Amino acid sequence: MAEISFHGAAGTVTGSCHLLETGDRKILLDAGAFQGPWAVESLNYKPFGFNPQDIHSLVLSHGHLDHCGRIPILANQGFKGNIFTTYPTRDIAHFILMDSAHILKEEFLWRQKRLIRAGIKAEKPLYTFDDVYYSMDLFDRPVRLKEKVELGDGVSVQFHAVEAGHILGSAQVYLDYPGKKGRRKRLLFTGDLGDGDRPLVNDPERPKRPIDVLVMESTYGNREHRSYEDSVLELEEAITSTIKKGGTVLIPTFALERSQELLFHIGNMKRAGKLSANIPVFLNSPLAIDITRLYQKYCDYCRLEFTDRAGKQNSPFMFPGLHFTQTADESKAIHMIQGPKIVLAGSGMMTGGRIKHHLKHLLWKESTTLVIVGYQAEGSLGRKIVDGADTVKIFGQPVSVRARVYTINGFSAHADRRHLLDFARRAKPEKIFVVHGEPASSAALADDLRSELHNTEIHIPKLGQKFRI
Ligand SMILES: [Zn+2]
Repeated sequence: MAEISFHGAAGTVTGSCHLLETGDRKILLDAGAFQGPWAVESLNYKPFGFNPQDIHSLVLSHGHLDHCGRIPILANQGFKGNIFTTYPTRDIAHFILMDSAHILKEEFLWRQKRLIRAGIKAEKPLYTFDDVYYSMDLFDRPVRLKEKVELGDGVSVQFHAVEAGHILGSAQVYLDYPGKKGRRKRLLFTGDLGDGDRPLVNDPERPKRPIDVLVMESTYGNREHRSYEDSVLELEEAITSTIKKGGTVLIPTFALERSQELLFHIGNMKRAGKLSANIPVFLNSPLAIDITRLYQKYCDYCRLEFTDRAGKQNSPFMFPGLHFTQTADESKAIHMIQGPKIVLAGSGMMTGGRIKHHLKHLLWKESTTLVIVGYQAEGSLGRKIVDGADTVKIFGQPVSVRARVYTINGFSAHADRRHLLDFARRAKPEKIFVVHGEPASSAALADDLRSELHNTEIHIPKLGQKFRI
């Protein structure tokens, strides 16, 4: 008998974490951080809902923080098993977790400084650099896509990963486990599924039947994306019109995948002569710089056209005028540079990081264009700007929004409603668990699935809920 229980991304997008129990084996799928408003983020401080010491293996679908961000806590609380993931995800997780430990430390020091005068001790950070170093030792079982791996001794659970098409190294996870009367059963966990036809990553692999249990994401379960080509054209228009007027293009961006995709398109504009070679382009994020280098290291995990280019030119991201801005001093020096320029800086939702300094200097200028290419959560500075605020507060000071603002939605790295439905239709499992979505989005997808797949049980699990599979 096997059971699955849900310990994150159940009723929320973030915190991906599901537990498969079969015989004496306990296998965790992801251990992601909860992100967003405090009501959600505070769940990181709550117990997992299982004993980390009892977990034999962790299978990690990809390196986004909402899929790997609780691994240091898991390790700190006694998890000593192996972590199975692809080679690129192992390296990405290392950078993402170190960056997260850095942010947690900064937040802790800031809180401590404020509370010390009141004689109050600030609460310790969720985890430290030491916890990350220790947990990296557990990433000792990197795998190649399609490689079949036995997860430990005892009850036989076989695992293999296939392309998810979401970000570099992202994988869908297949687990074959013992069912009733000696029959083998198969669970497919989609992780985050890509939308296909992207310049850097390959298309997501179609499901391979038979599949008994499908655990599927539903981030955009109620939405269809605008065409990717239209989004690239809109990006090009925003850039060329601003540069022509001598202004600055500011692109708040996520370090992983989106930054590299944008660099790729800006490079294409330069190569095609749509943008002068002299125009400086700054990638102003140490994390994005580290991850960009990983695309070079693991270009064999990328789309073939991209790999060919990487082989010929050393780096497909390199083009005239590109600057990697590593230090804070170099970041400040960007403001001294006169004339048109393009600046990519984090964080993607403008809640922190170097983009806030650029916004303080440039958001009030009509010559600036702000290009928003990613999801902006409720309450974030980015969301306020998208919603049309005239004035916003940056570092406690009011700044008027006089820049042109473009919101381009078609760059999403997630499959939309149409692709998710098509995926489930092909998988035709006995049971589907809809996870990783806001309630409205999961509910809409579940309704669509119920109306199409009459012989499939559809569940939207709640946090902590357990099912027999
Ligand atoms: Zn993801």
